Amino acid sequence: MSDSDTQNATDALRTPIVAVLGHVDHGKTSLLDKIRGSAVSEGEAGAITQHIGATAVPLETVSTMAGSLVDPDDFDLPGLLFIDTPGHHSFTTLRSRGGALADIAILVVDVNDGFQPQTEEAIDILKRTGTPFVVAANKIDTTPGWNPQDGAPIQQTYEAQSQRARSMLDERLYEIIGQLSDSGFSADLYWRVQNFQKNVGVVPLSALTSEGIPDLLAVLMGLSQRYMKDEMAIDVSGPGAGTVLEVKDEKGFGATLDVVLYDGVIRAGDQIVVGGTNEPIVTEVRALLQPRPNAEIRTEKRFDKVEQVGAAAGVKIAAPDLDDAMAGAPVRVVRDRPLDDVVEEVRKELAQISVETEEDGVVVKADTLGSLEAMANALKEAEIPILRAEVGDIAPRDVAVASTAGEDVHQVILGFNVEVLPDARRELEESDVKLFSNDVIYQLVQDYDEYVEEIQRAQQETVLDKIVRPARFQILADHTFRQSNPAVVGVEIMSGTVKNNQRVVKWEGDSPTRVGELSGIQEQGEDVSEARAGKRVSIAIDGPTVGRQIEEGDELWIELPEKHAKILEQELSTEIPADELEALQAYLDKHRRRDPFWGK
Ligand code: GDP
Repeated sequence: MSDSDTQNATDALRTPIVAVLGHVDHGKTSLLDKIRGSAVSEGEAGAITQHIGATAVPLETVSTMAGSLVDPDDFDLPGLLFIDTPGHHSFTTLRSRGGALADIAILVVDVNDGFQPQTEEAIDILKRTGTPFVVAANKIDTTPGWNPQDGAPIQQTYEAQSQRARSMLDERLYEIIGQLSDSGFSADLYWRVQNFQKNVGVVPLSALTSEGIPDLLAVLMGLSQRYMKDEMAIDVSGPGAGTVLEVKDEKGFGATLDVVLYDGVIRAGDQIVVGGTNEPIVTEVRALLQPRPNAEIRTEKRFDKVEQVGAAAGVKIAAPDLDDAMAGAPVRVVRDRPLDDVVEEVRKELAQISVETEEDGVVVKADTLGSLEAMANALKEAEIPILRAEVGDIAPRDVAVASTAGEDVHQVILGFNVEVLPDARRELEESDVKLFSNDVIYQLVQDYDEYVEEIQRAQQETVLDKIVRPARFQILADHTFRQSNPAVVGVEIMSGTVKNNQRVVKWEGDSPTRVGELSGIQEQGEDVSEARAGKRVSIAIDGPTVGRQIEEGDELWIELPEKHAKILEQELSTEIPADELEALQAYLDKHRRRDPFWGK
């Protein structure tokens, strides 16, 4: 049995679950490593317990690490459980509805870098889920002129700094406090915060020198004890409830689940219900696995089998039929309850995060249920319809589905934090389906929006190129250069664009009469292919004779085929210049006097 088993078997208060979020490279991994490493180097046996996907730091160790900042007698929570699966797991650990897994979060922000896209995303999730958090303002040791005080609490390290270094750091910290305020959080340096429910505490620290880490632990412990004690009270022997962090193939076990258990207990042999791609999966726990302490890399056995695990803990579950299980999905132990009720409970929780799909739209793939939900929210906000949304890597089937999308701009796969399987890559190359892939949601949405705009612009340009454009022009007095074959006259273009090779009409009463076809345009003696409103040019018209079909002073129009007039009015009216639109409107008005539905 591991420490956590014995601990939880007797303790009715569980450890709060802590998630670490932040932009890439801001120091999440370093911070977790440091907390684990310093705990271990404090030298006590059982200083930490390594779980699957998590590290448990007992109160005693927290207290040793935090020194005078944490007196163990002030606390009755058993310690802290840090979720330490690396990568972009904020969407799994913090879900907007259903089971938000983490009780509290550390948002890591590099003091040199401030808020970055993934910081903003993490903030959005924290806001939506109402998860309490502290900000670790990391890398304070990079302040110019810094005098490092390894492992010291922040006040002590502050006192050892020059005035200059201190004010440089303060400047950076206030920038972060300002950015938090812009995001709607009232924040301050943690020692100035009275009420952590109303204000976000900022802890300056360094994951390199450990300065400020005692403070971070003290704040986390204090916050949990003060505001979360009630939520930490669990029925230690009740049926276990948890969330899948990852679905992983393990040699000898097939597909296994890395789960963080936040309630009750799970035992080998328990019947469990797990959220799957299609239906909830009902199966039986074959083995519960914990990492082997000090496992050698080459050893065959990387795990120890345990009989039971109590919340809060990370554990690997081996069971049949887990291939369709989804990261982010709920896991429930059935024990002493009707199976149908538990299945229904899991189905309900999944339904809350199921994504609205439409007849036409894009294909979305994401690494976890939580990130899929976040993607769906972002796409809905951007009014991008979804044809299908699933958890998992991009497979050939996704390419096939995307290629059935009706509109060209929907023949797209948006992949968040997923791989492209080799077969799918081949199919992508052979199809018209376009792939966008990123691990920042807003970037994905922006890239896609830009792509759509580009396509639409290109489409409109080709349409505009092929379409006849409206124009109105008038034959000038004393500007007949040739009577006929072709008639050559000077004109002033009143509105629109006159182009060569187009038909010319003249209105007589309510009916248009075709007078001929434009066969040449000259501007100041030079041949041109078109002329815009305001210009005076001479034009050649095949067909009419000046003095018969046309006269000096006549107003002439380029003839618009009805279909073209319709496209111009309905789809391109914002793309054409104002004078051309005016010519179009006047032309339509003339037609509609005879036939109100012309061009509709
Ligand atoms: P993650 O992507 O958020 O997990 O960031 P990492 O923990 O991998 O850190 C990114 C880089 O920043 C690494 O090169 C770390 O060594 C460095 N780093 C992290 N924390 C600190 C710190 O407090 N001070 C300094 N100087 N470097 C740090």
